[in-house]
Amino acid sequence: MRALFKEARPGAQLIEVPEPTPSHGEILVEVMATSICGTDMHIYNWDAWARSRFPAPMVFGHEMTGKVVQVGPGVNPDMVKVGDHVSAETHVACGHCLQCRTGRKHICKNLRILGVDMPGIFAQYAVIPAENAWVNDPDMPWEVASLQEPFGNAVQTTLAGPGVSSRTVLVTGCGPIGLMAIQVARASGASLIIATDPNETRLHKARELGADLTLDPRSTDVVKAVYDATRGDGVDTLLEFSGNQAAIRQGFQSLTYGGHASLLGIPAGAIEFDLANDIVFKAATVTGISGRKMFETWYQVRELVTRGKVDLRAVISHHVPMTHFEAVFEAVRAGNAIKPVMLPQE
Ligand code: NAD
Ligand code: ZN
Repeated sequence: MRALFKEARPGAQLIEVPEPTPSHGEILVEVMATSICGTDMHIYNWDAWARSRFPAPMVFGHEMTGKVVQVGPGVNPDMVKVGDHVSAETHVACGHCLQCRTGRKHICKNLRILGVDMPGIFAQYAVIPAENAWVNDPDMPWEVASLQEPFGNAVQTTLAGPGVSSRTVLVTGCGPIGLMAIQVARASGASLIIATDPNETRLHKARELGADLTLDPRSTDVVKAVYDATRGDGVDTLLEFSGNQAAIRQGFQSLTYGGHASLLGIPAGAIEFDLANDIVFKAATVTGISGRKMFETWYQVRELVTRGKVDLRAVISHHVPMTHFEAVFEAVRAGNAIKPVMLPQE
């Protein structure tokens, strides 16, 4: 089979490798669509984080969907069987740590990630743990099914704590996940959605998907604009998807007293932050978001997607055969992509 193989150097190679076989508790999936995430870019670019974590040589990639073609021993057919259309929950929990045993697998202490800590899915066939398979309706388009994983990040972030219904919301960072969160906030009845990003194409997309006000932090005083738009009160909710220090500070400064912040964005390193004024005296509540709740978030994802409350296709910027991978990774690197979908069978 063809697979996107990662050696311990920048870039990747599309090569022929043997098809994997499922072991106990695993399934073999014919991969019909994959999507590229920021994590894949770190691995592709072979940066310091990737060098310290990724066990090259190995197939990478994690966002995927496909058809189950074989099940290993010990797989419960009530959960998943040959012929099912599945997406992958990409976080593989250990099942025996304190968090796993108390119903919080998404924050497993021994978490392993598909395509990062174990072989990935940029390939014609991939093996995943049966426990990580989410069975889709058979009529869900492949590219939509693949995007449910990052969409789950947006859903968990947006619906955390008090949620966003009838609340004013600031979304910092309009990458694919921030853009999906704007759709969730719109579908969930947010009363005002303000979005920030220094990329005009992404701000345009944010407006198209339901943001009421978009702000470019390079040319606008974000905090002032937020207070102006909220009658001087600040927003009820901050949804943070940039991982950028300036955006995080602006977000907390824009938050109303007693407000709620959900943080998904990951800064490159430690950041400076005014804890006393921006959280303590404000009596703000803050929720850190890791992955998707297994599988509470997936049930929420399914309802939003299959009942047409959101349109995940709106964030797809490329839809190409995997043989075009170089052009797509370059487009992401150059900032000319939102969410690329790659098709391994073409
Ligand atoms: P992305 O990098 O495409 O999006 C980040 C966006 O932030 C970009 O559009 C960028 O232009 C914007 N940005 C940069 N500086 C800004 C500023 N000063 N103000 C406002 N916006 C600014 O990433 P993504 O795929 O959409 O993911 C969003 C974030 O979530 C990333 O930091 C990613 O690492 C993180 N993430 C976390 C988890 C988790 O489990 N916690 C999972 C997936 C992704
Ligand atoms: Zn665990």
